[in-house]
Amino acid sequence: MENLNEIIVDAQWTSGACAVGVATLETLAGGPPSVDLTYVLPNAKSAIVFGFALDQELIDRYLRKEDRLSHEQDNIRVNLLASGTALFGEKFLKELGHDAYAICANTVYRNDVPGGSAVMMPDLSLRYLAVASGIAHFGLSGNVITKNEGAGIIFGAIVTSAELEPTPPLPDEDDYCDDCKLCVASCASSMMDPDGVERVTLGGKEYTYSKRRTYHRCDFVCGGFTGLHPSGTWSTWSPGRFLIPEAEEEFYPALAMAVQASVNRPQIEGGYRHPMLPDRRIALTCGNCHLICVADKAERAKRYKALRESGCVVQNPDGSLEVVSAEEATERLAAMDPEKRLMYESF
Ligand code: SF4
Ligand code: SF4
Repeated sequence: MENLNEIIVDAQWTSGACAVGVATLETLAGGPPSVDLTYVLPNAKSAIVFGFALDQELIDRYLRKEDRLSHEQDNIRVNLLASGTALFGEKFLKELGHDAYAICANTVYRNDVPGGSAVMMPDLSLRYLAVASGIAHFGLSGNVITKNEGAGIIFGAIVTSAELEPTPPLPDEDDYCDDCKLCVASCASSMMDPDGVERVTLGGKEYTYSKRRTYHRCDFVCGGFTGLHPSGTWSTWSPGRFLIPEAEEEFYPALAMAVQASVNRPQIEGGYRHPMLPDRRIALTCGNCHLICVADKAERAKRYKALRESGCVVQNPDGSLEVVSAEEATERLAAMDPEKRLMYESF
């Protein structure tokens, strides 16, 4: 048989991928528990890691608040493509006589950690695998980035007992992250600590990115429960306007309150079912920290400006979302029936 690495890179199931690499137990050594390949496959030796690109034009329209649904649909489709590719690759490797395990692109969590699946620790962290396999760099945001796709990329992987040759990490000089901090500025929940540094070692090489504060910050905003930036001048695609606390310990109570308060909001067109909240469809309303990040510095600045000037989202009684100025959004909420208004903000 030809070299297995070559067969995999050449195989039809990775043909649509924008990047393919291989990480091994050695190139992941020293990493956090979420890179332990043996967690999903006890006799694992390596992982084939790949990424599929999101449509950049749809990202642009999403950030400008011209079109939410098309990017959401693309995002769901690309996640399914990455997960389906992993499943196809798993079967392919098994046919060749190797053990293999497909890693879903998203929404699979460990339930044997303190707090269970509610803490949303993935079975394996695909961003670490992407960096170790030489298909992406860490950006300051902690998202992973590639020269061509920026952070607009969805990863998948297959863990296998096959002893594959690792692909080396990307050279540092190819990393376009210039600490512009636009990812930090575009996060309404201040999830990234601008002064804290996270250090991670993979295969003897140290990587850094900004420390993340409590994940409840992202749950609160990216979950769609609230979206008004603390400046009050722009919002995510969420019509929620609950105040975003500053202190870490205030986030869980704020999140719990907002989940409850928003339960009777009309359904937003589209959306998807998330295993943590299966009773309702969740709409994609944020993702700004990764959608803003592309290699072209001028384009990045343009996207951030467009986001900042994109206005605020309000929801109509039929569920549709409308983008209006910050002033009009305030007036529209103030004019609401008080019972309905409480679904969006405290007053
Ligand atoms: S937005 Fe700027 S600082 Fe953030 S990851 Fe991208 S290039 Fe780095
Ligand atoms: S997805 Fe949104 S809320 Fe979550 S960290 Fe990124 S910008 Fe912040």
